[in-house]
Amino acid sequence: MMRVGVHEYARQIQEGSLDLKEEMHRVIQEARRINEEYAYFNIIDETLVKDQVDDLIKRKRKDLPLAGVPVSVKDCICVKGMESTAGSAILKGYRPLLDATAIRKAKDAGAIIIGKTAQDEFGFGSFNVNVGRGFKTPKNPHDLSRVTGGSSGGSAGITAKAPFAHLSIAESTGGSIAAPAAFCGVVGITPTYGRVSRWGLIDYANSLDKIGSMGASIADASLLLEVIFGHDEKDATSTHQAIPSLRAELHQDIKGRRIALLKDSFRTAVDSDIQKAATNVKAVLEKCGARVDEIEMDITSRYALPVYYLLAMSEASTNLAKFCGMRYGRAEPLEGSFDDYFSNVRELHFGSEVKRRILLGTFARMAGHRDAFYIKAAEVRSLIIQEYKKIFKSYDAILSPTMPIIAPRFADIEKLTPLQSYMMDILTVGPNVAGMPHVSMPCGQSKGMPIGMMLTSDHFNEAMMVRIASHLEVSR
Ligand code: GLN
Repeated sequence: MMRVGVHEYARQIQEGSLDLKEEMHRVIQEARRINEEYAYFNIIDETLVKDQVDDLIKRKRKDLPLAGVPVSVKDCICVKGMESTAGSAILKGYRPLLDATAIRKAKDAGAIIIGKTAQDEFGFGSFNVNVGRGFKTPKNPHDLSRVTGGSSGGSAGITAKAPFAHLSIAESTGGSIAAPAAFCGVVGITPTYGRVSRWGLIDYANSLDKIGSMGASIADASLLLEVIFGHDEKDATSTHQAIPSLRAELHQDIKGRRIALLKDSFRTAVDSDIQKAATNVKAVLEKCGARVDEIEMDITSRYALPVYYLLAMSEASTNLAKFCGMRYGRAEPLEGSFDDYFSNVRELHFGSEVKRRILLGTFARMAGHRDAFYIKAAEVRSLIIQEYKKIFKSYDAILSPTMPIIAPRFADIEKLTPLQSYMMDILTVGPNVAGMPHVSMPCGQSKGMPIGMMLTSDHFNEAMMVRIASHLEVSR
């Protein structure tokens, strides 16, 4: 199978020069073959694929931007009738009655949802090794002994490996689109908080969660975003901003544009090849006529990480209370008091990282600690947003590496303490805490593994971010 760009593939399906049934048959076969070795899918749902294909054949396909495009979906985003577990054993067997808004929009645009992708349980992790009990761990597409990155690891892996036109709908709370995109060598775009409706998302931390896209190129990932952007009355935090044409920005002039290279990021970028890659990117941008200055972010570099983990765990600990074995997914024999039942179900079916986060998050919200931790973190979050806003008065985008290291080996991850793991998010938490759009894209290699660079821009300025990013892609 040959991979073409999504836009071109959709065009061929629209005009009927490709046979949708044959294509999807091959897509499913290939996805299954890849899955055996790499474990990118929690489920590939052939029956629902057939239903969607039959529906699409009955529709007028001419104007559908995603006509017949195979789309994988992070497991935490609900797809009607398709087992959706957020990677957790506690939701085993849960089949949503409705599509998430982002899924409905993608289907309306002609997409075929092929399956649900592997992730850290409820999104709790940076390497996709914190999988729920009974789930498989996805492996890096470039080296089976290394991680995909997390938490949207399955989405990034299949995006890299698919020999067919493909997009993935992923989600980021603190970097879960950017990190695996960087480790697997694909493009991952996290939009401004509120751009894409969160309705139908199995939430991690509501004030931070953002649904976004992954693709083999900036053009592919942008096409999906244009489809899923937009206000939704079912999500009170979704915004009314006009939807930009992102693809119209590709390769537009960036002469005179100002880009801030984050200097703090070099201190944390332990890998010297990653530092070199950033210097190369700087040179490419300058060659295109942009001006690149080095800057520091004082508050963000010191506090974004603790602020992120306090807020994310606090919100997660309340969100997870609804998984009591009565309403969704898993049930156990009803014995003893409700408290006994509740504890038993959660003891059996939550993994250890989930339990750690419930304990830490509950502690931070307790009456005696709330002011010192949760409220304080919310206040510092405002300062972080102000710091970004100040930079965006003078700059169009901020440039930094996405991750301080290349994709590590499974054996190395085992040696990390939870805190050391959390620290790997040092570069991605800033834009996530501030709700700023960011893109990670492959820019160079180290030891045969991809290096990801990240561009962040101001709220609702995805257009300029995509424009600048498209120049880096051409020069790869
Ligand atoms: N690594 C971060 C965490 O563990 C971010 C994960 C995410 O964005 N879902 O919370």
